[in-house]
Formats: sequence, C-alpha cells, structure tokens
Amino acid sequence: MDNCIFCKIIAGDIPSDRVYEDEDMIIIRDINPQAPVHLLLIPKEHYADITCLNAERAATLGRCLNKLQDIVGNIPQLKDGFRLINNKGEFAGQTVGHMHVHILGGTAMGEGLL
Ligand code: AMP
Ligand code: ZN
Repeated sequence: MDNCIFCKIIAGDIPSDRVYEDEDMIIIRDINPQAPVHLLLIPKEHYADITCLNAERAATLGRCLNKLQDIVGNIPQLKDGFRLINNKGEFAGQTVGHMHVHILGGTAMGEGLL
C-alpha cells in the first residue's frame, strides 16, 4: 500500500530493528518505546485494523500469535510476562493504519490497563 509506513518497513524501504520475520509477519522494535521492551507484530498483508479481518487474515493472525511463545522465549526480558495491545481507531490512539499488535514487557505493569 502506497504511503503506509509499515508496508515500507516490510519492503525494506525504511529501516527498522527487526526481531523476527517469516512469510506472515515481521516483528520490529517500536521507534518510541512505551516499556523497556516494546515490539510491534505486523502482518505483511496491509489492512487497516482488526475490524478488517476475514477468514484468511484471521488464520494468518492466529499463526502469528501461535509463534509468539517461541519468539518471546528468546527474549529474556519477557520471561516474566508481557502485554499485547491492539489499537483500533482514533479513540484507541491508532496512528498507523496497518493492523499491528503491540508487545510490551520488561517491567511489572500492574493490573490496570491504563
Ligand atoms: P498505534 O498508535 O497503535 O497505531 O501504533 C503505532 C506505533 O508505531 C507507535 O507506537 C509508533 O511509535 C510506532 N512507529 C511509528 N513509526 C515507526 C517506525 N518507523 N519504526 C518503528 N515503530 C514505529
Ligand atoms: Zn501497510
């Protein structure tokens, strides 16, 4: 998708700190981390947000999430836990219109979500 920063990162046109890549997704370090470890799981297919799932995209996202246990297992700072966040829309603070899941960890975040 033209003018999508994450599509440009996936294509290698914009540099990123890649933690993992396969046929379905990339995982990169967020440029503006909100926790000691702040990663972004980004499916390679461009779609705007979680409400744009269809059966194929849901299956792909399921594969991605199923791989997390192995990927996260290689990051010692996440051994005590991590938080997944997906923002959809303005009120949630979504700023990049290419579906992605935040992976946050490396510190005790407590039970509150906000
Ligand atoms: P969201 O607010 O859920 O749309 O999240 C977008 C995230 O993308 C933010 O946490 C940004 O810091 C992050 N971000 C934006 N541009 C880049 C980039 N070039 N490399 C890595 N992360 C980025
Ligand atoms: Zn995109």
